[in-house]
This record gives sequence, C-alpha cells and structure tokens, in this order.
Amino acid sequence: MTLARRMGSFAESATMEVAGKISQLNAQGKDIISFAAGEPDFDTPDFIKDAAIKAIRDGLNKYTPVAGNDTIKTAIIEFTKNTLGVEYKKNEVITSLGAKHSLYNISQVLFDEWDEVIIFSPYWVSYPNQVLLAGATPVFVNCDPANGFNPDIDDLKSKITAATKAIILNSPCNPTGAVYSNETIRKIAEIAVNDDIYLVSDEIYDAIVYDGAKPLSPVTLGDDVKNRTILVNGFSKTFSMTGWRMGYALGPAEIVAAMVKLQSQATSNAVTPMQFAAAAALKDLSFLQTRLEEFCKRRDAMVGAFNSLDGVTCVNPKGAFYAFPDFTGWIGRKFGGEPIKDSVHLANLLIDHAGVGPVPGVAFGAENYLRFSYALSMAQLEEGMRRLAKFASKLE
Ligand SMILES: *Cc1c(COP(=O)(O)O)cnc(C)c1O
Repeated sequence: MTLARRMGSFAESATMEVAGKISQLNAQGKDIISFAAGEPDFDTPDFIKDAAIKAIRDGLNKYTPVAGNDTIKTAIIEFTKNTLGVEYKKNEVITSLGAKHSLYNISQVLFDEWDEVIIFSPYWVSYPNQVLLAGATPVFVNCDPANGFNPDIDDLKSKITAATKAIILNSPCNPTGAVYSNETIRKIAEIAVNDDIYLVSDEIYDAIVYDGAKPLSPVTLGDDVKNRTILVNGFSKTFSMTGWRMGYALGPAEIVAAMVKLQSQATSNAVTPMQFAAAAALKDLSFLQTRLEEFCKRRDAMVGAFNSLDGVTCVNPKGAFYAFPDFTGWIGRKFGGEPIKDSVHLANLLIDHAGVGPVPGVAFGAENYLRFSYALSMAQLEEGMRRLAKFASKLE
C-alpha cells in the first residue's frame, strides 16, 4: 500500500498514544494510576446537557451555516465582549469541531511551504504537527522555567526571519501551566506588529487559572494587534465538554471566510444541537468556581510532592490542570541496575514498575520532563505521589 506522501510529514498525537497504552494495561488487570488525562475529570454541567437534549427534542437537528447558527455566533460575540471587552462581527466568527479543528483550519488557510511558524517550547503536541501538515516549518522558541516558563523574548527575536508568518501563543499553557506575563504578551504583540506577523492565540484554558492569575489576550491590545490575531477558544476544558467537539475562532473576516471555505469542503458545520448547548453554556459559568478550588488543592498537593523529591523540581503552574516537573536529576541514575536514559524511558519505568502513568516531556519538546495531569481525584493523586516516592527510594 502507498499512502499519500503528506502522511510521512507528521506524527500521531503522543499524548493520546500514552493514554491508550495506560488504559490498555489497566484493561488487562494492571493497576496504573493515569496522570495522562488531557481533559477535566468533572462531568459536563447538567444545565448544558439539558440544553443539548432540548435542542435535539425541539428538532434542531439539521445542517446550519458552515460557521455556525446565529444563536451560537451571537453568544460567542457577547461572551467575548463581556470577558475581554472586545467586539467582533458575525463574519469574524467560526465554530468548528473543537478548538483543535479551528487550529487545523488556521494552519491550512494561512501557512505555505515557504513559511516559518514560531512555536513556544514546551508546546502542545498538535502545533508542530499541524504546521508540518500544512507544509510549513515549525521554529521553536524557548520558554524559561526560571522565568515561570514565559517565552524567552531574546530567543524569539533571534528566530524571526523574513519567512516568519505567525507566532502561536498558548496562555495558560499546556503542558507547563504558565500564564504568560502581561509584559511578555505586550512584547510579542509589538514584535508581531513591527514585523508584520500573525498571532494565533490559543486561549482554551483562559478560565482555568489560580492565585488570581489573569491571562492577557493580545486582542485586547488595540486594533493593530487584534487585526492580525486569530483567537481560538472552545468548550472542552472550561465546560468539561471534550467529547462534544465544540470550538471556535475569532479573527479578521478574510481569514475566517477562508476557514469557512475550507471547512465547507471538509466537515461542514459543528454539530447542531451542540451549538445550542454551547450557547447556553456561555451564559452561566457559576459552576466553575468550586471546580477551580478543587483543581487548586490538587495542584498544591502535587507540586508539593514533586518538590519534596530529591532531584526533581516543579514550577508552580498558574493555569490549566497540568504540572510539568523537571526530572533531570533522575536521568542517568539507576533503577534495577539500569541507568534511566530519557523521559520516554522514565515514563515507561514508572508505568511498568510504579503503577504511575505520566506523559514523557519529549512529546512536548522538553526532554527530561514529565507531564502529570491533576484531572483526577485527590485520593488517586495522593496514592500516585506515594508510589512515585516509593520508586524514588529505589533509585540507585
Ligand atoms: C485540549 C486542547 C485543545 C483542543 O481542544 P478541543 O476543543 O477539544 O479540540 C487545544 N489547545 C490546547 C492547548 C489544548 O490543551
């Protein structure tokens, strides 16, 4: 069989692969606590489920316009105005099958073979692969753990060339949990305006923040910046709606029109009843506060546990639901007489010998790190941290 050449240019989602391995082992009767989850453990709130069921029963089950119906577009526009104080028109909004789908559309309509796209590393696994699938070249810029994993602006400046088409931002960030400082966002925006570069701002975790952190959206920095930014958001994380596949993008009408054109030949509209449910979701975020408090307790327990381990350091994440500890101090040490080689090796040792399942950092471009999600119960989390400490005590 000969697959299309483009299939060789990118990789399968590594996080989904590890999560698959862990659930397969658990199905075989192994007891592995999975820290690989890329989704909240909380269920979708009832009022959103009710809105979906009502839409289905009311017969709202037909195609809608490709970018979404008026109800969801209006709800997104109002929500964005209320939360960011920024106004969009209806032809500047598109809903899609998840934020990932919106990001895919953006990469397909904006990036050419001769383009370079800046990605801050550690990065969400799909950014480089979507850029590669568009035929463009990902260019990585470091985030400094000593500076709360904020993007290194000097490194950014050194990586910009005449071919730089866009910069992808993700604050709060998956995997590091970093909320970029206002100063960092302002500097990135200034560079984008001066050098005529687009910004793709993935704000999917914007509501999942702790310690009073307030992520700054570049679209709030005036029209110069807004007119070159495509803001991506969705319902998966804030509203625990990962399986419903609802996301959206806001941006210049010309880019949105191109995304609509592409989507019209690929998938058409986002699922119709889910558009109505998502519109209802945006009207009431009051359920979120108790969930954030729970996430915050877990974060504190987890980060404390990591920093109490010899050879491990963990930056305190200000958003999302992941900790991203640095295990450099464990690399080269021996477990069962065998030196630990890298993050993949360490993750496999933990899965096979400690009953703990993280995602290797190399999947996010950060060798020697592991990503641990805290979207699991406190009891499981604490048991997992005990197992990790026991593993640590066996290191030679
Ligand atoms: C989960 C996630 C997405 C995709 O979310 P969907 O709306 O479910 O497609 C996008 N970006 C980041 C950083 C994520 O973690």
